Amino acid sequence: MKQHDIVIIGGGPAGLAAAVAAWDAGVRDVLILERDDSLGGILNQCIHNGFGLHTFKEELTGPEYADRFVRQVEERGIPYKLRTIVADVSPERDVLYVNSEEGAVSVRAGAVILAMGCRERPRGALGLPGFRPAGVYTAGTAQRLMNIEGCRVGKEVVILGSGDIGLIMARRMTLEGATVKLVAELMPYSGGLKRNIVQCLDDYGIPLRLSHTVTRIHGKERVEAVTIAAVDEARRPIPGTEETYTCDTLLLSCGLLPENELSKKAGVRLSRVTGGPEVDDSLETSVAGVFACGNVLHVHDLVDFVSEEAARAGRQAAAYVGGTSARQGRTVTIRAENGVRYTVPQRLNMTDEPEPVTLRFRVGDVYRDRSLVVRAGERELRRVKKRILTPGEMGELTLPAAVLAGLEAGAEIRVGLED
Ligand SMILES: Cc1cc2nc3c(=O)[nH]c(=O)nc-3n(C[C@H](O)[C@H](O)[C@H](O)COP(=O)(O)OP(=O)(O)OC[C@H]3O[C@@H](n4cnc5c(N)ncnc54)[C@H](O)[C@@H]3O)c2cc1C
Repeated sequence: MKQHDIVIIGGGPAGLAAAVAAWDAGVRDVLILERDDSLGGILNQCIHNGFGLHTFKEELTGPEYADRFVRQVEERGIPYKLRTIVADVSPERDVLYVNSEEGAVSVRAGAVILAMGCRERPRGALGLPGFRPAGVYTAGTAQRLMNIEGCRVGKEVVILGSGDIGLIMARRMTLEGATVKLVAELMPYSGGLKRNIVQCLDDYGIPLRLSHTVTRIHGKERVEAVTIAAVDEARRPIPGTEETYTCDTLLLSCGLLPENELSKKAGVRLSRVTGGPEVDDSLETSVAGVFACGNVLHVHDLVDFVSEEAARAGRQAAAYVGGTSARQGRTVTIRAENGVRYTVPQRLNMTDEPEPVTLRFRVGDVYRDRSLVVRAGERELRRVKKRILTPGEMGELTLPAAVLAGLEAGAEIRVGLED
């Protein structure tokens, strides 16, 4: 069986940043495996700008942002295989990949970095009534068809779900001459970033109907119309509120699901809230030597944070294979409570000389003028005032080294909102 120090599954922004960081930390035997025919992941179809403001202090398109990292991989001579799908990963870090040149190949990895991204929630998972006509797409599929395949997807469009991809596609389809009649959102708040609501809907006069859902798709061969209705607090359609819009296309932007089939095969423990692996502050999963980063770990709003997180995973995987990992087997768990849905990481490894840790989190509702409070027992470790917190915007909070130094092994940190 072939051996590699670090095998990275997925050549999207997470896999690329992890590879560069692992290389820069001194590991020369890194292999990236990517099933698509180019590196860059989903960014290749995101041709709008707005990427890289944090990382490069510039506004780049998705392909430009990806290209910055592809160049870094090329400059270092980090090997990668395209059109290569990873079919299996064992808890012992044996990785089985398949491609047309080599067939099925098993490699043993010193460390594995999971960077497989996420996929969109499909129609089947939404239970929408009606026939199965042509013209119903996930927003990402429509984005790929338009931006990569060069196809026109539809002329009159209704969008269900106000996630960022749906908002961006509302603008994209308008620019291509389609009429976007409205965006309907089940929840009383948008699932997307505020800036995307302003730049993609408000600027084009596209209405956003909160607390509404699709109750019927009309048409047998092709979508002919869509009926939407208001929903009550239990998200049940309210009879008598139905409105029907003629259209030929329905786009679905109803959430992203971390792509974790391989993580399950590796025996990694998954979080029921994020759908991704539970990790410590090294981004190591519950299986030793298996790390995770990017959208496979938890769904990010901005790729800049994916790159930052993935670089950490790359450095920590390098430390793992180099035997310089600072872990001493003393862990502290982190519990999300009082409006905070989850944190990543979910546990910390305590060392004698702790480093500051950045917690990323999401809340479950819209909250105004609250404090985000971190406690260990009765002790308050950190308190930060927040003017507004929404489920669509991932938050972050840094725990300074001095705060961590006082924590006992086995302790539990709680992160929640207070008035
Ligand atoms: C449709 C869509 C549109 C988006 N638009 C924006 C946007 O406008 N702005 C923004 O900031 N963010 C956007 N995002 C989010 C942003 O693209 C992600 O934050 C970022 O791409 C995540 O990087 P990643 O490497 O984790 O995942 P991805 O970019 O999804 O890369 C994962 C890679 O892993 C590969 N892979 C998966 N499984 C295997 C396997 N078994 N074997 C081999 N390879 C595998 C995939 O082919 C893919 O190339 C979008 C996301 C999606 C899904």
